Amino acid sequence: MSTVVREAPHHRNLTCVKEYSCKRAECVARSLEYDRRRYRQKGYGTWQPFVDAEPARQHIGRLRALGHSLPGIEKAAEVSPATLSRILYDGVNKQARRIRPEVAERILRIPLQARPVTANTIVDATGTRRRLQALVAMGWPLKALGPQLGFHPRRLTDIIHGDRVLASTARRIAIGYRTVQARSPQNHGVPARSIVMARNLAAREGWHGPAAWDGAAIDDPDCQPEQTAAYGASPKYVRDNDRIAEIEHLYLLGESVDSIAKQLGGNRKYIGDQLAVVLRRRAEAARQEREEAMRRRLGEAA
Ligand SMILES: [Zn+2]
Repeated sequence: MSTVVREAPHHRNLTCVKEYSCKRAECVARSLEYDRRRYRQKGYGTWQPFVDAEPARQHIGRLRALGHSLPGIEKAAEVSPATLSRILYDGVNKQARRIRPEVAERILRIPLQARPVTANTIVDATGTRRRLQALVAMGWPLKALGPQLGFHPRRLTDIIHGDRVLASTARRIAIGYRTVQARSPQNHGVPARSIVMARNLAAREGWHGPAAWDGAAIDDPDCQPEQTAAYGASPKYVRDNDRIAEIEHLYLLGESVDSIAKQLGGNRKYIGDQLAVVLRRRAEAARQEREEAMRRRLGEAA
């Protein structure tokens, strides 16, 4: 009589011991623990071979919303891909209504925390978009930003309008942003005409320069610079029209916030607040211009 020793496909649950006579210590212990629990619970009359799959299904949904991948969940819960798909997919007749309690328990035990970010994690693009927009607002056209940041300008066009981005891309742009925001485009070969065009584009789109963002706010989708600019700037700055005109002039010449601060003897925060006023005025002027143009067109049409 020959015994064919079949290798268990995995050592996650009771299958390897029950069907493949697995002798690994941890598997035997798992199997004994299961038998003991079943015995105990049968004695108490609380034995449940299966439980409702719905809580586990919902938990998986929440984990996925937090960025967990299915393979990641499989690994954390020590369940097979087949088990997970039976829980999840409402195929023809495949979705499990009831699952083993230990499977449910292991899934429900995975904490509802955002998955650690790796290079391939897809993240919210708010901060990345704002960084690019801030550089454009400084007078950097995307065409010139490409080589500065190490991306093809067409990629930057996609990113500046995107909702989601690879974590590695977000990181590269955040690092590049720190360097480039300290550079004035005019000192790096960007023609004056392109600088003005980039700034006008930013004003039309309501994009804010680096000065409008304080620290981590740039990555926070709930943080809106319009609001802080509208209510945050001290009224004395708003009245300080000469000062603002001077700042606007230097800004239009492609000077960075640091450089303007140096030339006018104000600090970065002060210049930033004033620039926010300038940007708001420019955006407002651009908006009125558009409305005026629209009225003219409607007038012509009538
Ligand atoms: Zn085993």
